[in-house]
Amino acid sequence: MPFITASKLYDYIQCPHRVWRDAHGPQEEKNPESNPFVELLWEKGVKHEEKIISQLGEYLDLCDGSHEERFARTTEAMKKKEPLIYQGVLIHENMLGIPDLLKKLPDDTYMPIDIKSGMGFEGADEEEGEEGKPKKHYAVQLCLYDDLLKRLGFCTHNSVQVIDIHGKTVEYDLTALMGPRSKKTWWEYYEEVKKYVDFLLKDQHRNKPASASICKLCPWYNSCKKWCEETKDLTNVFYLGRSNRDRINEDLLIENLDEFIGLDVAEVMKQKEEEKKAGNTEFLYRLGEDSLSKALRRAIILRQTKKPVAYGTMDFPQVSHELFFDIEDDPTQDFVYLHGVYERAGKNERFVHFTATELSEEEEKRVWQEFWNYIASLPKDDFAVYYYSHHEETTYKRLQKRYSDVISAEAVEQFFDHPHVIDLYSTVQKKTDWPVGSYSLKALATYLGFSWRDETPSGALSIQWFNAYLESKDESILKRLLEYNEDDCKATMVLKDALENL
Ligand code: SF4
Repeated sequence: MPFITASKLYDYIQCPHRVWRDAHGPQEEKNPESNPFVELLWEKGVKHEEKIISQLGEYLDLCDGSHEERFARTTEAMKKKEPLIYQGVLIHENMLGIPDLLKKLPDDTYMPIDIKSGMGFEGADEEEGEEGKPKKHYAVQLCLYDDLLKRLGFCTHNSVQVIDIHGKTVEYDLTALMGPRSKKTWWEYYEEVKKYVDFLLKDQHRNKPASASICKLCPWYNSCKKWCEETKDLTNVFYLGRSNRDRINEDLLIENLDEFIGLDVAEVMKQKEEEKKAGNTEFLYRLGEDSLSKALRRAIILRQTKKPVAYGTMDFPQVSHELFFDIEDDPTQDFVYLHGVYERAGKNERFVHFTATELSEEEEKRVWQEFWNYIASLPKDDFAVYYYSHHEETTYKRLQKRYSDVISAEAVEQFFDHPHVIDLYSTVQKKTDWPVGSYSLKALATYLGFSWRDETPSGALSIQWFNAYLESKDESILKRLLEYNEDDCKATMVLKDALENL
């Protein structure tokens, strides 16, 4: 029987189905190749860990050997009161944990510490002076180590530590509530996750796959997608989501899209009201008339109409220059390396790009400045900018804080607030529906017949190419990266034209 490990708890938090599929799913359908972005994250994590470890001073390294050998040496080391242990192994019954560090405390007990290549807290707001709260997946993994230490008799505390991306040590209190409105402590949440992981590993509980955005990074992507298509699962409907699917399955006994299409929303709302009066507030929890009607509309378009639908007209600015704009950035290094624009001026079209060729603040600033110089060179109030998703705006606001001498915060604000600067994703979401399960630019442009020159286009690969280019300076890699960005910009143009024609 496989052990409950920190990575299984992590997988469960990412996708509740993953643990079951890894243990009992059709193994021949699992992609043996790891996702390039996941690999990149892993490599960065390893490098960060090596850097932190090199600054630690003396410690006992227990990296080598089988789990059993390392467990024996870890317990022996703790009995001998070793001050700091790296990569020790903790095993108890069906649980196994490998905390990055085990630190001896003044009372001779041990505290687990994990080295993470992300921020220690999430939701921090420097301006408001808010520190943020522990990250769910970090907290749960550290709970496992703390649990193991307690069971083995080497710990009595409820505090654990994370050394984050900046080398800062942050402490988590595992008995604290998960958030201001939560009734659960981190420890209670961990117990709950652990219980489900245990059931799934033993095949005592099964849950369903889903079609979700996280799936793109998962080796089961094709396998689960096939399942969702074959079973006509409700998560094929854009934005319906796994938890709403489960609720509809359970409360309405509706299992697939064909059954869902026959739903009488008004009748269901009456039923929900009656359940509520009878004290059942869980019935279709968080599913109101609006969200059900929207999902139903999308299901009908997906299964029956099979054509995009526009709700109302879309008036786009009539200007001499149209810019279709897309940026590429590496979130693992918080670095924006490419600002791409496909420019259409009447019959003239061209791709303009501002690309960093080094990983440095000067270079990031230089290309951003060039982008704004280009914008300033356009005929005033006679151009429109189209982009897809909020990402460009939030990234530019972040860049403005970093390079405030390039452009003022007000100017960036005014740029994105201008009626000629349009987030097409917002237009798509508010004013249209499509016979596809995802409203990503790739899904919609592909539906419209557009194809990328690259066989495996993805933002994750673009990051990998950029990092490979930095190391090798191989111009063919840069070319591939630029073609990918140009095609993304062109896809935005194809979508804008299609929206206008709808
Ligand atoms: S493909 Fe999606 S549903 Fe399937 S295991 Fe992976 S993340 Fe979960």
